[in-house]
Amino acid sequence: MHRTQQQERFILDKTTNTSGYKQQAMSLLMQLKKQDPISEQETSLENNDKKEFNFDFSTLVLSDEQLDIMQYPRPTLLLSNTTLKQQQQQQQQQQQQQQQQQQRKCDRCKNLFIVRAILDNQDVKACAYHYGRLRVSQSFGEKQRTYSCCGDPLGSTGCEKGPHVFKEEDIEKLHASIPFINTKDINNNNKEKAKLLALDCEMGYTTLGMELIRLTVINENHDKVLDELVLPSHMVIDLNTRYSGISTLAGVKHNLESIRQALFDRMDQHTILLGHGLENDLKALRIIHDKVIDTAALYPHPHGLPYRYGLRVLATKYLSKFIQDSSEGHDPEEDAGTCLDLLYHYIKQKHQ
Ligand SMILES: [Zn+2]
Ligand SMILES: [Zn+2]
Repeated sequence: MHRTQQQERFILDKTTNTSGYKQQAMSLLMQLKKQDPISEQETSLENNDKKEFNFDFSTLVLSDEQLDIMQYPRPTLLLSNTTLKQQQQQQQQQQQQQQQQQQRKCDRCKNLFIVRAILDNQDVKACAYHYGRLRVSQSFGEKQRTYSCCGDPLGSTGCEKGPHVFKEEDIEKLHASIPFINTKDINNNNKEKAKLLALDCEMGYTTLGMELIRLTVINENHDKVLDELVLPSHMVIDLNTRYSGISTLAGVKHNLESIRQALFDRMDQHTILLGHGLENDLKALRIIHDKVIDTAALYPHPHGLPYRYGLRVLATKYLSKFIQDSSEGHDPEEDAGTCLDLLYHYIKQKHQ
């Protein structure tokens, strides 16, 4: 099928009403107009003979320095805590108690709130926030920053209500609440290990912060090797459905420990893990791993870190692929697959 037809089909599949279709089609047309003939040629090479790549992926893994700059969990995190296990456990319990009473800054509305395990009627609607992205728009010749969810300007009262939620960023605290493990310490003999796995995690908000609620893993040929819901260790406050795509954990079979084991059955310390901003996934999984390819680093932002291109921007720019447009949240398999496509695209460009 012709590429434009494919994209039209894609939009039709992704949108549920006429105005949504028109909006998507318009943005597609604008993208196509912007493309020059050269990038058109490049992208038409996509998806060909992927399996014939005999490329040494390890030449693209992040250096130690890059892992540090991008704030990946590092082995030093474990050093201070190896000897005093009991003390550590006591500290953990204390910290957890403290955390539950502590004031937190809401990840959505940025107000302070106290985390409660049981939410009453007021708590579930305590937060007014905008779920959309901020974008620059023109209004009567003036530039204005507005939210994509409702079109209201920056600083306006949120258009959506929900509970206050928070995210813990401090890696020491993450480790104290649920310990990290280094893939060098995992014991898994006699099993076939993947050379490269692309992974994507979905996270939900709990009384501990953000926790893993789904892990999706594909191999270098786009085969899905793992896709499971994960029960967080703490009480769920909000499953973040708009982004995670998960509205229920009914039927969940895994917790963090068992999903990690399922992953370790398919990899070892030499397996290359691929993702976009993968440090967030590894933090959610509480895994320390140093063979990493990150598409955020493969396609750096011209301003350098901490600026990064989002995955959907890279997908549009380099693959003419429109992802994360669904109102049902991210499709993790699509996100992981996009990382893989971006990796192959990068390699092809470098070796043409
Ligand atoms: Zn809004
Ligand atoms: Zn809030």
